[in-house]
Amino acid sequence: MPMVDGCEQAKREQEGRKLRILVTGGAGFIGSHLCERLVSQGHEVFCLDNLCTGNMENLEEVKDSPLFRLIIADVTEPLSLEVDAVIHLASPASPKDYGRLVVETMLANSLGTYQTLEVARKGGARYLLASTSEVYGDPLKVPQDEAYHGNVNPVGPRSCYDESKRFAEALTASYGRIHGLEAVIMRIFNTYGPRMRREDGRVIPNFIQQALAGEPLTVYGDGSQTRSFCYIDDLVEGICRALQSEEAVGEVINLGSDEEMTVLELAETIRKSLGSSSGITFLPLPEDDPQRRRPHLEKARRILGWEPKTSLEEGLRKAAEWFREELEKEKGRGGG
Ligand code: UDP
Repeated sequence: MPMVDGCEQAKREQEGRKLRILVTGGAGFIGSHLCERLVSQGHEVFCLDNLCTGNMENLEEVKDSPLFRLIIADVTEPLSLEVDAVIHLASPASPKDYGRLVVETMLANSLGTYQTLEVARKGGARYLLASTSEVYGDPLKVPQDEAYHGNVNPVGPRSCYDESKRFAEALTASYGRIHGLEAVIMRIFNTYGPRMRREDGRVIPNFIQQALAGEPLTVYGDGSQTRSFCYIDDLVEGICRALQSEEAVGEVINLGSDEEMTVLELAETIRKSLGSSSGITFLPLPEDDPQRRRPHLEKARRILGWEPKTSLEEGLRKAAEWFREELEKEKGRGGG
């Protein structure tokens, strides 16, 4: 066995340590994949969710594990739990969802952040905040690095999400300063994959389902707005690294893909990869829809040694397979 020095030994022990982890929003798209990964690494996971956009079916793979506990509760309620880490994901996250759950979204990101920060403060736990690329609003700078302060409309239709996430960041950073809390703020960019809600209105679920059904793909505006899409497994890997990294403490880190493409290019790619003959329908662009979005990933690469690995082609194939199966299940149930 190779010799390791004391410091290296301690680092390895820390990395190998089994943690008790609270994951809020654990029944959602990102949360359920994360719970599964953490349990597979031997950690004990407390998944808290009020199921407003989360779904019990997402937990099928993990729900019977002795390392997994489900707490059906609202994140805005006080919680008494001793854990080593808190990962706060709970919030509606698609424009359609936060557009209908406006106040719930604002409270999950304000009061919910406060309650979960208190859990972390009382137990001396590490805290990971799932923030968002939306804090950059309609950015005037491309790519968006973490030092950029953004261009957000504080009273527009997206502001319930953007501004409450900005508040969540401010509160988290303040707990770091005031209480010495070990906090990491992750700004998560567009992510996709199995378990996205079929009706959440986001571009990839919409386009895949439209392409599978042979219906026209609904491009909003002229489709020249850009996004960059990260596959779920890559994102989960980034979150796990942020959880274990000492250098990440006190940092704000973008997580996502930096392969920027227009929405029209995405539509073409999905049609091609699914061999679909669907046409394209152009619909009005929603108010305040960001024109450009692409993360600067230098910090994620340097601090976490992380970058997305899954090609869009492969990720879309896996996502489409899942949507296809969901549609089959629905047909089997006589739902269409
Ligand atoms: N979009 C679209 N057609 C759809 C759904 C979304 O053209 O059926 C566009 C939307 O206007 C935005 C981009 O795709 O420019 C990404 O939208 P999404 O809701 O997935 O997430 P966002 O990045 O806006 O939060």
